[in-house]
Amino acid sequence: MKFTYKAYKELLMLLIDQGYKFCNYHDYQNYNMSVIIRHDIDMDIEKAVRMAQIEAEMGVTSTYFVLVTSNFYNIFSKENQAMLRKLHELGHEVGLHFDEAKYDGETDLVRAMEQEAVLLEQCIGRPVWSVSMHRPSKKTLEADYLIKGGQIVNSYGTEFFRNHKYVSDSRRNWRENVHAIIRSGKYARLHVLTHPFWYDVEEKTAREALKSFCESRTGTCYGWMQDNVRDLDEILRRSELCL
Ligand SMILES: [Zn+2]
Repeated sequence: MKFTYKAYKELLMLLIDQGYKFCNYHDYQNYNMSVIIRHDIDMDIEKAVRMAQIEAEMGVTSTYFVLVTSNFYNIFSKENQAMLRKLHELGHEVGLHFDEAKYDGETDLVRAMEQEAVLLEQCIGRPVWSVSMHRPSKKTLEADYLIKGGQIVNSYGTEFFRNHKYVSDSRRNWRENVHAIIRSGKYARLHVLTHPFWYDVEEKTAREALKSFCESRTGTCYGWMQDNVRDLDEILRRSELCL
């Protein structure tokens, strides 16, 4: 499958044609054929909003997982907060993407997840009902954490790995043929993870996608500097940057 919006739309169409109902982590039991679409926002919220718009145009809902400890984005900046609220407005759920690497071995990770969920709730102005793990350790994968007494669903819980067929485009690589899995009719419960970062109008290689992200961030950073450093172009001109 190509990493383009066109190919992603075709994937959604195939799910629709095969009779799958687009669900979240809380309502899938109500349907005979369910698919939970999950997106992890590791680096770029803007890309997530573009995918969310495509889904909304097709009447599809999914769950977007957001880091609150990322070096790549600050969820409380005006622009990012507005984009995260936009995800909700488009009909999607926003959950917590949890990076355990931020904590040492002594930390109570369940408590940390609950605290991060409160921060995200403050940001989006809504309750958080689900958590996914960012680069989980083997211990976390096997832990089957009970978060907020079970009120917050752990998308890495056994229910969503053992009782669902799980497919993912992690590291920009579908390890299995996702189309064949959907077409097979063998799986009543599907759990699909994508990373909106890799998708674009025209397909990019991983190298091209990463390079253009770094370059666009340099330009954005210069724009922020203009808001903070008077007469910036007398000190450093935009044309001096490698854009
Ligand atoms: Zn992640």
